[in-house]
Amino acid sequence: MTTSLRIALVTGGLGGIGRAICRQLAADGAHVIAADLPAEAARLDAFTAGMDGLPVETRALDVGDAQACAAAVADVQARHGRLDILVNAAGITRDATLRKMSAEQWDDVLRVNLDSAFHLCRAAVESMVARGFGRIVNISSVSGQTGNFGQANYAAAKAGLHGLTMSLAREVAAKGVTVNSISPGYVETPMTAAMPPEVLARTVASVPVGRVGQPDDIARAVVFLTADEAGYITGINLPVNGGLLMGF
Ligand code: NAD
Repeated sequence: MTTSLRIALVTGGLGGIGRAICRQLAADGAHVIAADLPAEAARLDAFTAGMDGLPVETRALDVGDAQACAAAVADVQARHGRLDILVNAAGITRDATLRKMSAEQWDDVLRVNLDSAFHLCRAAVESMVARGFGRIVNISSVSGQTGNFGQANYAAAKAGLHGLTMSLAREVAAKGVTVNSISPGYVETPMTAAMPPEVLARTVASVPVGRVGQPDDIARAVVFLTADEAGYITGINLPVNGGLLMGF
């Protein structure tokens, strides 16, 4: 099935990976709504300038707010007639070893990284099913596959995201809606900018491809999974990690 213009909602759209996803989806022919926490004018201007006139609009959304998630999806559907593609890319880290992790650090990470996907998927999927087309991509992490020192909250959220992906994929597969996860390895973004140089060097040394990932590496996978032609790929976790973790 080919239609003229897909409508895509990308959460965390102003972030390092989100921005690349917005840009590549728009370049591929979608109209994109980049949803992110309220940002100051300078950040929004820089974002818009970086889109080079591609059809990408911005919208304030706190994905940690269940009602706001439902309202955002309803708003997109009302203004554009539908929502074809949902990419859950908003994410935060609040690292600490489990023994030192506060309940607040746990709750914050689970709410923003995992609960948000539940709320947005639930808001979006009904009309996708009714229309017989939808593409959902949840941005997980290699940390969810292996666990990571100091990231019990983040790894649990990201592993949970894939459980959600597989279950929803089964529920809507017969209705033309696909649901997949992508698990990036280490990607150069504001989230990883604070890594100490020696940790970064160790990380690069452990990546067979020999470099950290770039946001465009992840966006490429999103475009692949959300294509009209990708209807036979559902319930998968697509690792994009430079070979850091191989398996089958
Ligand atoms: P980033 O910090 O650059 O972007 C994250 C974006 O999410 C930011 O723009 C931030 O404002 C937004 N955000 C945070 N809380 C939000 C909320 N409550 N509501 C709406 N938006 C919110 O980080 P990134 O590296 O681009 O991460 C994007 C996604 O990729 C995240 O889900 C992250 O967990 C995942 N990921 C990143 C890496 C990496 O190495 N950078 C690796 C694996 C997975």
